Amino acid sequence: MISLLIATRNRHKVEEIRAVLGSRFRLHSLEAVPKLPPIQEDQQTFTGNALKKARETAALVAALPEASTRGLGAQVLVLADDSGLEVDALRGAPGVHSARFAALDTGWMTSGNSSDSENNAKLLRLLEGVAESERTARFRCVLACVQLRPAEPRQPDRTFEGVCEGAIQYRAAGRGGFGYDPLFVPEGQTLSFAELGAEMKNRISHRFHALQKLKGALAKKG
Ligand code: IMP
Repeated sequence: MISLLIATRNRHKVEEIRAVLGSRFRLHSLEAVPKLPPIQEDQQTFTGNALKKARETAALVAALPEASTRGLGAQVLVLADDSGLEVDALRGAPGVHSARFAALDTGWMTSGNSSDSENNAKLLRLLEGVAESERTARFRCVLACVQLRPAEPRQPDRTFEGVCEGAIQYRAAGRGGFGYDPLFVPEGQTLSFAELGAEMKNRISHRFHALQKLKGALAKKG
């Protein structure tokens, strides 16, 4: 059975990945390995950041003492998720800066992410006065998958992209999910991701679509 080490500290992402992948893989979160240093997400694209997170996590974990990673299994793939929101009226922002959208205003010295409520408040402020028909947006998710310990046959690093089209509503609604979920209404729905709940989100989300492609690719490999 293939083991996947999910390389994110975001527990919401881990839960969604687990819910969609189900029992076909042995899934580990970063809780399964000793604490790793943070990885700088400084690339200009989701693909660049996802690959960077997967490759650097793989290198850090491979360098750990063997005894501390034995529980992961023999055939291990490191899976990283880089994702975010692209708003058309903001020419694609916040994009790769989704996690630290509000913090961008506090100057270049600030590193680290802002809270979901600060990010949502900034987004609503920037969209003040923007008509409903102009509030189109999409979530994009890129998953990167790399071998933990390259063995024969060596697998190339792979990426899988998923998109969910929708729109940004005028006020936050709902308590589920994370990030921009209270503001994002997926195409064909009248409720936000936060109102629709996990089960529905995990059937239509950007992450779901990327995970379907990943599942397909891993199934072909056998
Ligand atoms: P990352 O850790 O750099 O990939 O940051 C992703 C950021 O994009 C999160 O902190 C959220 O603000 C946003 N985001 C990504 N996926 C979702 C989602 O499924 N729902 C809501 N917000 C999301």
